[in-house]
Amino acid sequence: MIRLHNVSKTYTLKGRRDDGGSPRTVQALKHIDFHVPAGRIHGVIGLSGAGKSTLIRCVNLLERPTTGIVTVNGQELTALSGPALNAARHGIGMIFQHFNLLTSRTVFANVALPLELMGMRRGEIRERVTPLLELVGLDDKASQYPAQLSGGQKQRVAIARALASRPKVLLCDEATSALDPQTTASILALLRDINRKLGLTILLITHEMEVVKSICHRVSLISDGELVEEAEVGDFFTAP
Ligand code: ADP
Ligand code: ADP
Repeated sequence: MIRLHNVSKTYTLKGRRDDGGSPRTVQALKHIDFHVPAGRIHGVIGLSGAGKSTLIRCVNLLERPTTGIVTVNGQELTALSGPALNAARHGIGMIFQHFNLLTSRTVFANVALPLELMGMRRGEIRERVTPLLELVGLDDKASQYPAQLSGGQKQRVAIARALASRPKVLLCDEATSALDPQTTASILALLRDINRKLGLTILLITHEMEVVKSICHRVSLISDGELVEEAEVGDFFTAP
């Protein structure tokens, strides 16, 4: 479902001093080979700066890998650009640590946005958005604005928006890192529910062991741009 083949990413830093030297570079990902089969919840854990964010952004090409091949839903994304890449991205939803909602739009209109951008008609949008708001437990908040919601509710809106285009894959970039433990637990329960009910494949990155323990089937450890360990979650953590 998600496949990375020999993916590397090098950032070139813009030097501030004109010292005539060659540009400084950071190799954020080094020869990543990685596969998440359909229907699984896979976690990537690592310290700050390890390359987690770069890795997950390479899956939907928010960052384009410097070298290597990314395949999602059977489509080689690294071979695509422009409208073809945009179309392929409808098969991949994403949620973020800070929710990234539009403050000027209601809950309903935030979830509707990707569908409006796809050119979907109003009636169809309504038929799509209403059940999504029910799924995330916010059907009574459709007319509220993000500023009126708690952090957990905002993340639920973001989840509904990510699911609007009926993706097969959901990417979660530190999705619970801004939430308290109780809210984190409820968002993780929702993600588990979505994985079971919709058969969605989920890739998440986190720096929190508890997140991995509580919902992931399998986990990879990333360190200094390399995947250094991978195991089923039950085998990854030693028994108490
Ligand atoms: P993590 O998500 O695990 O904290 P990142 O993927 O954000 O790791 O970062 C990996 C490395 O790449 C770090 O050294 C970071 O400073 C560098 N990096 C990340 N994004 C950029 C960028 N846009 N430009 C330059 N360097 C970056
Ligand atoms: P904008 O002004 O940028 O279009 P709005 O938030 O006013 O954004 O609304 C965007 C779309 O979503 C409009 O078609 C609006 O009718 C619809 N909409 C907004 N809130 C609701 C709601 N609670 N229930 C149904 N449709 C809604």
